[in-house]
Amino acid sequence: MNRPNFYASSGLDRVSHLRRDADWLAERLADPETRVQPVWRSQNFIARGAEPAAGWLPASALRRQIEAGATVALLGTQDGVAHFAVDLSAEEAPLELPGIADLGDFFDLRRVGPALRHAEGGMLAFARGILHWHSRHRFCGVCGSPTQSSEAGHQRRCSNPACNASHFPRTDPAVIMLVHRGDRCLLGRQPQFPPGMHSTLAGFVEPGESLEDAVAREVREETGIVVDEVRYHSSQPWPFPSSIMLGFHARAVTDEIVVDTNELERAAWYDRDWILAHPADDRFRLPRPDSIARRLVEDWLKGEVPV
Ligand SMILES: [Zn+2]
Repeated sequence: MNRPNFYASSGLDRVSHLRRDADWLAERLADPETRVQPVWRSQNFIARGAEPAAGWLPASALRRQIEAGATVALLGTQDGVAHFAVDLSAEEAPLELPGIADLGDFFDLRRVGPALRHAEGGMLAFARGILHWHSRHRFCGVCGSPTQSSEAGHQRRCSNPACNASHFPRTDPAVIMLVHRGDRCLLGRQPQFPPGMHSTLAGFVEPGESLEDAVAREVREETGIVVDEVRYHSSQPWPFPSSIMLGFHARAVTDEIVVDTNELERAAWYDRDWILAHPADDRFRLPRPDSIARRLVEDWLKGEVPV
C-alpha cells in the first residue's frame, strides 16, 4: 500500500518557498535549461516519438505568449531545473506556433497516461490540474471582480482593492471504495462506462462529513448495502478535472443489493475466483490500469486488505 498510485509522486520539488521570489522566477524563465509544458484547453503536450513522453519546451519557445499574459504556473524543480506549465488555451491553432510546430501534439492525459513514465504522469497531471483551476476562477467569488494570478500561479487575487480576497487552488475530495464480504466484492456499472467495465463505487465528500461517513453513505445510497469497517487504502490525484480520490476497503454487513438507477446501471457481487478466471471482454472487465479503482480491486484479489 506504500506504492504510489499513478499521477502521484512526480518527483518534483514544489519549492513553495520560492513562489514569491520574483527575481528567482524571472531568472528561471530566462534560463535556457528551464522546461515548460504547454497545456491547451485541458490537453497536455506530448512529444512526438516512438514512445509517448511529456513534451517539454524551453521557455523561449513560448516567450511571446508568456509576455502576452498566458497563465504560467511553477510546477517545481528537478535536479535544479525549473518546470512550468503554460496555458495556451487562448490560441486557436497552438500546433502552428513557431516554437511548437512539429514537436508534438496535444492529448487528453487520460488517453496517454498509462503509457507515460510514472513521474511524467504526475507532472502532467499537476500541470493540467492547476491550469484548469485558473481557467475556472477568473472572477472573484466574493465580489465578482476579475482575479489575477499570483504566487507563481498558486494563488489568485481579487483585483478590486476594496475586496482583495485571495483564492487558492482547489482539490475536491472524492471517496472510492472496494466493498467486500468474504470472498465476494461489490462492483457496479455506470451507463457511460466503456463496454463491460465494472468498477468500485465512488462519490464526492459533502460538507460536514468524515471520509468514513461518506463511504458508508455512498455505498448505502447507490446499492442499499450497509458497511461497518471502513479502512483507508491509498489516494490518487485525479485532476479530471479537479479531484483527489481517497481509496478505501469497506466490509459489508448486508447482502441484498438495491441499485439506485439514477447512479448505476447495475451492481452485483462478484466472486474472487470468478474475477481472476474471467478474461477482459465486453461483458466484464476491470477499470483502466492507471486508476486507483483497479488497484483497490487487484489488491483485494491478492488478499491485500488494509487492517
Ligand atoms: Zn473580490
